[in-house]
Amino acid sequence: ALHNQIQELRGNVRVFCRVRPTTSETACVDVAADGASVALTKSQGGDKESSVAGFEFDRVFGPSSTQTEVFEEVSQLVQSALDGYKVCLFSYGQTGSGKTHTMLGDQACEKTRGIIPRAVAKVVEASEANAKKGWRYDMTASYVEIYNEQVRDLLCAGSGHSDKHSIVHTPRGVTEVSGVRREPVASVDAAAGLVRRAASARAVEATQMNAVSSRSHTIFMLYITGTHDASGSRLTGCLNLVDLAGSERVGRSGAEGARLKEACAINKSLSCLGDVFQALSNKQSHVPYRNSKLTYLLQPCLGGDGKTLMFVNINPEAPSAEESLCSLKFASQVN
Ligand code: ADP
Ligand code: MG
Repeated sequence: ALHNQIQELRGNVRVFCRVRPTTSETACVDVAADGASVALTKSQGGDKESSVAGFEFDRVFGPSSTQTEVFEEVSQLVQSALDGYKVCLFSYGQTGSGKTHTMLGDQACEKTRGIIPRAVAKVVEASEANAKKGWRYDMTASYVEIYNEQVRDLLCAGSGHSDKHSIVHTPRGVTEVSGVRREPVASVDAAAGLVRRAASARAVEATQMNAVSSRSHTIFMLYITGTHDASGSRLTGCLNLVDLAGSERVGRSGAEGARLKEACAINKSLSCLGDVFQALSNKQSHVPYRNSKLTYLLQPCLGGDGKTLMFVNINPEAPSAEESLCSLKFASQVN
């Protein structure tokens, strides 16, 4: 009961922070032993004193945390999609902070694979277990990329970003993207194949177009319909797993033309996301979901009885201190 009360007070958005390991640089971010707060030390340059800023989150994972540990903490939330919840997990942070590692990881490796491959495997397994209790599930998935407010179907080889895909909210409370493939997810293997295809579509792009991958959002969308023949119950859940564009303020210096338009579009969708969080946490009657494709797509998960978990990914190295501070501030205004 207490847990529910706390949940109610905090709304339906939770925030986990994950601090990646350092390479050669010294770290300026410390994870407290309580596993719920971080401290960022920022040197002011010269002989001025350094300042320390502290932030609290629902959970903080330090540099030595494993993919398995992280998944254990989100597994319940992921499985609630089978109970008809609209669930969304996403990673926020500057490029290089560990967003893709957290969401996707290395699919080929049991140990280092991330949330997406683990989540689909878990959902398929859990649905098979529920079959013994009389539930039948129909599961399909789409995998899209949003870049410059345009959508690309990652399951359709060779397709580009386009305005032709529109985002539609169905009466059953899920979001569909018109004109993109929805493929059956009947087994763990089928799901793994689908994730692999999308990842390779992105890899091709990464070499062809200079770092589009860091400036686009990718969204894995799993649609779940459950039917219980004996009771006639029917439920519709969804699971959206989102690897956001890098949060660094691209194009602040010297961007022109297409580059500037792109920088603005990225900043726009992330700042729209911030506006939505702000409106939700202030319990405003109008929440501006429609201001970007990303927020409109995630509306069922962000509002109502949806469930959202945001990872704020942090690169703890000293040269990233400024961006890390921005990310931590963004994340701490969420709930
Ligand atoms: P982003 O997607 O935010 O740009 P990546 O996930 O690609 O960042 O991470 C950048 C690099 O750091 C990659 O080589 C990745 O494997 C590594 N990395 C990130 N987080 C971790 C972690 N928790 N443990 C080990 N390596 C990590
Ligand atoms: Mg990435």
